[in-house]
Amino acid sequence: MNFKFDETPEGEFIETIMAAQGALERKQNGRQVAQKMKARMQLGYWVHNAPVGFRYKTVKGHGKLLHPDEPHASTVREAIEGFAIRRFQTQAEVKRFLESKPDYPYVKDGKVRDKRVTDLLTNPLYAGYVCSEVYELNWLKGQHEPLVSMATFEKVQARLNDTGYAPARADIGEDFALRGFATCGDCGAKLRSSWSKGKTKYYPYYLCHTKGCESYGKSISRAKIESSFEEVVKSLQPSPTYMILAKKMFKRAWEGRLEHTKAAARSAKRKITEADTQIETLLSRIMRTNDDSIIGAYEKRIAKLERSKVLMVENLTKTPRKSNSYEAFLEPSLTVLSSPWKIWESGDANLRRIVLRLGFSGGFSYHRIDGPRTPEISLPFKTLGMISGGVKFNGAAREN
Ligand SMILES: [Zn+2]
Repeated sequence: MNFKFDETPEGEFIETIMAAQGALERKQNGRQVAQKMKARMQLGYWVHNAPVGFRYKTVKGHGKLLHPDEPHASTVREAIEGFAIRRFQTQAEVKRFLESKPDYPYVKDGKVRDKRVTDLLTNPLYAGYVCSEVYELNWLKGQHEPLVSMATFEKVQARLNDTGYAPARADIGEDFALRGFATCGDCGAKLRSSWSKGKTKYYPYYLCHTKGCESYGKSISRAKIESSFEEVVKSLQPSPTYMILAKKMFKRAWEGRLEHTKAAARSAKRKITEADTQIETLLSRIMRTNDDSIIGAYEKRIAKLERSKVLMVENLTKTPRKSNSYEAFLEPSLTVLSSPWKIWESGDANLRRIVLRLGFSGGFSYHRIDGPRTPEISLPFKTLGMISGGVKFNGAAREN
């Protein structure tokens, strides 16, 4: 507007009013933009800068949508998953991993700032969820495709919150396939399994704990005993009766597992309802208070509840829906069962137990110098490999 204000009080008044109106309009516009942004986020769309690993892509029916941005998407995924499974023990190791990627953004003078690493590991967008402190939005399912699963994300958060210095030892049974099964070649007692600390790393071994036994306290490396056991497993051939027995065992195990997942689903549903009720209660309490610190505390609890809900819903969708897939599941398994070695090789601790239980009646006796004794093979198996000389047993000669 071309208007020359004069220096009179009236002119000044008009000038002030017009400036105020301009400011009001700008603020109203700002409010409108913020409302639009919030509304879009409520629909599950991120509206701010795309975090590394994502870029915006215009998709029909969505508008601008986060989309994996290669090669950074793969780098981000590898970093987060690597931290979850302890391939990277610390955030510093994640940092070094990122620094090793020459075209990774945010590398300055070969360094990535610590905060960038923490942001990467804690950003819910990577797990497919939209959160905003400014707009008070928690754990809304995003429209975009996640880079990592919610379970991985939770594992990472648990690791970050874990103040304990030493990582908790995983179930030792996973480390020692023959735990409670391998026996001492001298005294026949069960061998104990353990890790011993060397200069820079840990070494797995088995050893005899019987006082007075010739092998007392003498360690046998895990690789030695387990590889010789593997030779035995490779030699096993199942008989037809074994297949019938295995079929029965599998059917029972399958039914048990099905019942278990059903119970877990029921309990998850109940917990989701409980979380909803708690959120409702907290919300109504927020409405009744003006104290900011109390509101803040309630909001934190709500965010936590929302998050646990998300995880439970994700678990729920993972449970198998069809109960009649038993046959479809069993047939390929039985084919695999015809070769115990294939099961053993899978590395699955539960499946390995089945091999041990079905295949061997008297444990696996191993002598630290002479090697394995001839194992007692259960009836279902024929031991063709051993008779035809496929495997050499040093202990056999000693016993015969
Ligand atoms: Zn012994």
